[in-house]
Amino acid sequence: MIRIINGTTRVCGVIGNPIEHTMSPMLHNFLAERAGMNMVYVPFRVEENRVADVIKGACGLNILGLNVTVPYKKEVIASLAEIDLGAREIGAVNTLVRVEDGYKGYNTDISGLFRAMTERNISIKEQAVIMIGAGGAAKAVAYLLGREGANTVYLLNRTIEKAVELASDMNRRFAKNVFVPMALSDYQKIPKGSYLAIQTTSVGMYPGTGQAPIEDEEFYQKIHTGIDLIYRPLKTRFMNYVEAAGGITINGLSMLLYQGVTAFELWNERTVSGALVSQAYELLKEALAEYEE
Ligand code: NAP
Repeated sequence: MIRIINGTTRVCGVIGNPIEHTMSPMLHNFLAERAGMNMVYVPFRVEENRVADVIKGACGLNILGLNVTVPYKKEVIASLAEIDLGAREIGAVNTLVRVEDGYKGYNTDISGLFRAMTERNISIKEQAVIMIGAGGAAKAVAYLLGREGANTVYLLNRTIEKAVELASDMNRRFAKNVFVPMALSDYQKIPKGSYLAIQTTSVGMYPGTGQAPIEDEEFYQKIHTGIDLIYRPLKTRFMNYVEAAGGITINGLSMLLYQGVTAFELWNERTVSGALVSQAYELLKEALAEYEE
């Protein structure tokens, strides 16, 4: 089908560096076409120290919205007219929406994960959780767990200082001692129980698919549900361990999809139907099949 670009076509895109492997153009152009929107979405590779210029330029060109990816999720904040609460709390923005005097920043990773979990009936409230990792993505995950009322979160990270910092930020933010920081190597000290586990590190991501952050079958006996944020490959070694111990697993594809769907909805002020979300999921899944072992 030929897409007609004309004088009323609305332009969105993604800024980052590198940007060559982004799946967002595929997703957003598919959603736009299927939803009958006159919108195009393009990748922009942005060089170091150019973010402020880029945002000013985008505003001048009346670009409707932008996604922001590594390494600019924090740096972009200084160029925003407004910022959504969740994005401000975690200090990371991945979606910009045009407002009168510039852009408003959001973090749709938070709602992306929440929607992916809700779709699978995985609740957070009063749950005992193990979180592995304390990097950029972990901040969105921790914020969601705090906001939705997790009971306890054992927050494991290779670099303990980062776990301590994230845990104390979140405990302060939610005025409760929910987050317990631990060194990754201390995982055996987690009390016996049945946990929801969220794997947020890059360990196991293509091309390092033969690795899991914890290589100990016994640890995985504690996990009833394991969510891995990784989507390349669709089945990680972490997920294999969880399943072998009888737990259920979810990969990062639904979160990726819903963070994009949420951005699309913010830009276009309309809801994407469940049927279209399912079609988009299949599209992304097919594109990612090559990373499977
Ligand atoms: P990041 O900020 O670089 O953080 C990386 C995390 O992985 C840190 O906690 C780091 O621990 C840990 N790590 C790295 N190598 C390790 C190793 N060898 N052993 C133990 N821990 C290790 O990265 P990020 O942006 O948070 O992304 C993390 C993953 O989430 C990536 O795979 C990314 O693709 C995925 N992600 C998915 C979605 C989605 O929509 N599904 C969204 C965002 C991110 P240290 O602090 O000790 O270095």
